[in-house]
Amino acid sequence: MWKRKILVVEDNEINREMLVDILSSEYDVITASNGKEALDVIKNVYQNKEYISLILLDIIMPIMDGYTFLKKLKDDEYGALIPVVVTTSNVNEVDEVLALSSGATDFIPKPYKAKIILHRVANIIKLREHSALINQVIYDKLTGLYNKDYFYQQIKNSFVRNDLEPFYIVTLNIENFKFFNESFGLKAGDNLLNEIAKKIRNYFGNDVVAARFTADRFFLLLNYNQYQAFNNKEAIEISKSIIIRWGVYEIVDKTIPVEQMCDRASLAVNSIKGQYNKYINCYDDNMRKALLREKMLLDSIDEAIENKQFFVYFQPKYSVYNKELIGAEALVRWNHPRLGMVSPGEFIPLFEKYGVISNLDRFVWEEVFIHLSNYKKKGYKLVPVSMNVSRVDAYNSYLSDIFLNLTKKYDIEPKYIHLEITESAYTKSPKQIIKTSIDLKKQGFSIEMDDFGSGYSSLNMFSMLEVDVIKLDIDFVQNETSKSIDRSILGDVINMAHRMNIRVVAEGVETNEQLNKLRMVNCDFVQGYLLKKPIPSDEFENELKKLLIFA
Ligand code: C2E
Ligand code: CA
Repeated sequence: MWKRKILVVEDNEINREMLVDILSSEYDVITASNGKEALDVIKNVYQNKEYISLILLDIIMPIMDGYTFLKKLKDDEYGALIPVVVTTSNVNEVDEVLALSSGATDFIPKPYKAKIILHRVANIIKLREHSALINQVIYDKLTGLYNKDYFYQQIKNSFVRNDLEPFYIVTLNIENFKFFNESFGLKAGDNLLNEIAKKIRNYFGNDVVAARFTADRFFLLLNYNQYQAFNNKEAIEISKSIIIRWGVYEIVDKTIPVEQMCDRASLAVNSIKGQYNKYINCYDDNMRKALLREKMLLDSIDEAIENKQFFVYFQPKYSVYNKELIGAEALVRWNHPRLGMVSPGEFIPLFEKYGVISNLDRFVWEEVFIHLSNYKKKGYKLVPVSMNVSRVDAYNSYLSDIFLNLTKKYDIEPKYIHLEITESAYTKSPKQIIKTSIDLKKQGFSIEMDDFGSGYSSLNMFSMLEVDVIKLDIDFVQNETSKSIDRSILGDVINMAHRMNIRVVAEGVETNEQLNKLRMVNCDFVQGYLLKKPIPSDEFENELKKLLIFA
């Protein structure tokens, strides 16, 4: 059974043992033989995120007496909340006033009477636990559920009480809570949080171990039966328009820190954020591994650039009519010293998410210029090479200056430089992109709109978007070419683009059937495994060499 902690501070061993004897049937009793030792004990308990419910204090002690101890205790943010009962044999008024004015709560006279002591101690503890001060330490002000620290302590206590029973940490999040707050106001947000707390109590009972940490981060500690009940019912419904998602961590290892247990429940819920039709998710160790991998990749980006672990592949683009090489896309590759080859499909979105993509983009661009300048020096005929510009860089108003400087530094004409900007950058902030695009085009660079068909851009936007080429997204290409031509919108898209003087590249062409269909609808260029996979720079050099021979 879990017991509250009581600290007995007393230098006389016989007295100390007597108190331990009396109290230990009801309490977990810890002892100290003087004030200084007691302060250390309290600090220790506090560091373990546990609480002392009451202190029994002798006044006359060596090293540090009771008054000095009281004074120090009341100066401590946490210690000030612990009720102190002074044990004394000679109750005189002076001592009493002095003790009370130093912050003692009550007296217990010597010799000790077990019943009186137990009774008084229980009363004081009860009183204090219901007082406003302790509320701040235990409860979340808004919802009346526990706060984070106290919840952590309750988890530990539950292990002490019952080591064999399985426990579950369950967290719940409101989808788009921030948005809710912004749209309906903080008060409505608070009401919603209260509503949820109420539902939790109604569903699991008033003595449920539940907490709110911050914002909409709720946590519950459920035992096996509670968890089964919860599982059967799936979720607590608030309103049809408010989506609540749940993350579950089954406590299999009781030795890991409780903070980490809660993090794992959070990880489980975060990984289903925004997913359609998935409202509950249980933590599994692969999530942690994925997170560690992400962290490892993020931490090593600078070093990777410095040590040239990144390099560039080229994927040729061909004319649909005569399969002539008309250009190439530069695609970054990462040879990680520990993980081996890592796909850009993995690290680019990660770097974008954490705002560290710009350094890599710069590096790749310069690498491309270095290659182009080498090819040029060797006397090859160049073809335009397109470079990917990630969203954040697309909004950079110095983009044209950056590329202009590179063309000067490496003596490459701007007409050989194409920039691929993803469709979603246009739909999100068209004004900024249009401005950047006008600057770039003025200098002679070409703009390709990447991933067309994967988002929401409409054809009638093209005329104002300043793009020279659209790149049809791989899924779009593969979907549309699988339909009969009269049912596909491919032809319409391409015709419309041509009317606006925009060329069209199809990406991800893998079969002859796809190529033929693209030819039938007058697509201009193709890129894909059918023609060539992305290749290292020296192989690409061979492709350029062929242009000389056939010229
Ligand atoms: P993306 O810009 O859409 O690039 C095309 C991706 O499709 C490349 O994947 C390419 O290898 C792949 N691909 C080409 N042909 C085929 C095909 O026939 N079938 C299939 N299934 N796939 C094909 P990759 O190289 O893995 O790059 C993935 C994404 O990473 C790129 O998508 C791009 O968004 C990003 N990325 C690559 N390099 C860079 C870079 O240097 N900078 C930035 N910012 N992003 C880059
Ligand atoms: Ca691209």
